[in-house]
Amino acid sequence: MKIFYSDNHRKHQPPFEVFDGGKRVPYLENTDRMDRILTALKKTDWADLTPPADFGLDPIYAVHDRDYIAFLASCWTEWLALDPEVAASPKQNAFLPATFALRRKPRVPSTLLGKAGYYMMDLSACIVEGTYEAALASANCALSAADFISLSTVNRPPSSFAFCRPPGHHAGKDYAAGYCFINNSSVAANWLSSKGKVAILDIDYHAGNGTQDIFYERNDVLTISIHGDPDFEYPHYIGYADETGVGAGLGFHRNFPLPKGTGDEGYLTALDEALSLIKDFAPKYLVLSTGMDTFDGDPLGKFKVTRDGFAEIGRRIAALGLPTAIVMEGGYANEALGQNVVTLLENFK
Ligand SMILES: [Zn+2]
Repeated sequence: MKIFYSDNHRKHQPPFEVFDGGKRVPYLENTDRMDRILTALKKTDWADLTPPADFGLDPIYAVHDRDYIAFLASCWTEWLALDPEVAASPKQNAFLPATFALRRKPRVPSTLLGKAGYYMMDLSACIVEGTYEAALASANCALSAADFISLSTVNRPPSSFAFCRPPGHHAGKDYAAGYCFINNSSVAANWLSSKGKVAILDIDYHAGNGTQDIFYERNDVLTISIHGDPDFEYPHYIGYADETGVGAGLGFHRNFPLPKGTGDEGYLTALDEALSLIKDFAPKYLVLSTGMDTFDGDPLGKFKVTRDGFAEIGRRIAALGLPTAIVMEGGYANEALGQNVVTLLENFK
């Protein structure tokens, strides 16, 4: 299996994040996640790790606001100039705003901190010196995976794995959120959409709010997310069952919010319904936003999906028989993460 991976993710290593209740904790979306998956992939005889190609900024601008991307690109150097002492301190050197644009009609202010509150949704999307470079490389992994499945000439439906970090599905058109800066799955899906209809299935534990926002008014990209009910879970304000798209996009978005404690059986029931919607839509390509934080014991999740569950989830999705770009999102039970990813991917090799 073609696996697109860049070591540039190591340039994004925030020393902390601010968690629920204002707790300052070590950054959970860390490089160790990738190392665990790399180790597990290297033990297989089918993982073909390849660096991504550089697709430039145009496919990213096709999904994200240009001023937001410019903010990501210059944020760190502006922050260094504004506050060199804090920015250079190893314990402090992650940039976050302390004020957020709320329900008033927001405008983009001219100051760095004002812009940060406008372009960031929460306190997990910390920006450090290498964040922009890592996010670009991650988006290029997703684009490379999409490119591969669109060009492949194998007889069976092709698949590829975009081994992305940072993840992407919480990032919207003009905001960073939930460890995400550029929406890798959306960039890949939008790129594929010029060649045919695309479905994005998001199986991360958290609602794919960014992906929902990006395609909410479109009918050429079906978006489906299965996740912890936002009534109790991040991202809290989006991901409810009655959100189904607007305008031309009405009926082309679906959310499956599930209760705390959902195990294999409950998850697979929702998955079957989602897969049936995808079959009806009859897309040319599938982009699978793949989070493993539905796993029983994940520190950021409240589901109880097992490794056998991942095998069955992968089997049922692969049975769609669609060219599939599998894009890495979350998953924080690091010790189990490598084998969990391999277990899912094995269905597509
Ligand atoms: Zn997640």
